Amino acid sequence: MSRLDIKQIPVLNDNYVYLAHCPETGATAVVDPAVTGPVFEALDQTGWTLTHILNTHHHGDHTGGNLEIKKRTGCTIVGPRADRDRIPGIDVEVGDGDTVQLGASSARVFDVPGHTRGHIAYWFEDSEALFCGDTLFVMGCGRLFEGTPAQMVNSLAKFDALPDSTQVYCAHEYTQSNGRFALTVEPQNEALQALMRDVDAKRQQGVPTVPSTLGQERATNPFLRPSSADLQATLGMQGADVVDVFAEVRRLKDNF
Ligand code: ZN
Ligand code: FE
Repeated sequence: MSRLDIKQIPVLNDNYVYLAHCPETGATAVVDPAVTGPVFEALDQTGWTLTHILNTHHHGDHTGGNLEIKKRTGCTIVGPRADRDRIPGIDVEVGDGDTVQLGASSARVFDVPGHTRGHIAYWFEDSEALFCGDTLFVMGCGRLFEGTPAQMVNSLAKFDALPDSTQVYCAHEYTQSNGRFALTVEPQNEALQALMRDVDAKRQQGVPTVPSTLGQERATNPFLRPSSADLQATLGMQGADVVDVFAEVRRLKDNF
């Protein structure tokens, strides 16, 4: 039982890379290293010694630093078994139900296909931390590049089973545009309206809106709310199948 120290590193236009550090053992992971420079700077700053890379999926803005970081630190690269051929330098392949040990902490792995076919997420239960890559965003979800709406609904349902207090460490700061879209499909949602006021204020000061919590996402994220009566009414889809509602919300967002 151990709580990780987590450091958020903003990189590129809108990516977040994370360091997760076990204070008892010194084990330290970097989650989805898009790049190398800011990761090494953060390691210098914290004094932490890198032991692992945890990848959620194969996209370059999540794996671009893999080989260089492995070369310089000798760390172990953990990634999705279903996409092992597309994860540079992968050492340990994991999938649904597997456990990843990071010092005295451990993560449960979820297969969450949809954005890519081999996307995974890491849930550190003791730290209340979910590293979900490009599957769930604040008020949004990843585009369906390699999966179907039914797959994504099923993937998001795995997160929906986690506690309200779970911190959602997603990989992009897409919050403000996600929220503007969310308000078009659920204009009456007061939690959403209040959150957007807060988000606009934060972004004006250049403050991250990530992490959020699963409780907040359940209340405001249209992709977790396909059964919302208000949302269905806005779309003219009252009583429709949740997969069809989700697909329509995704389609509208893709064209927003
Ligand atoms: Zn991606
Ligand atoms: Fe990404």
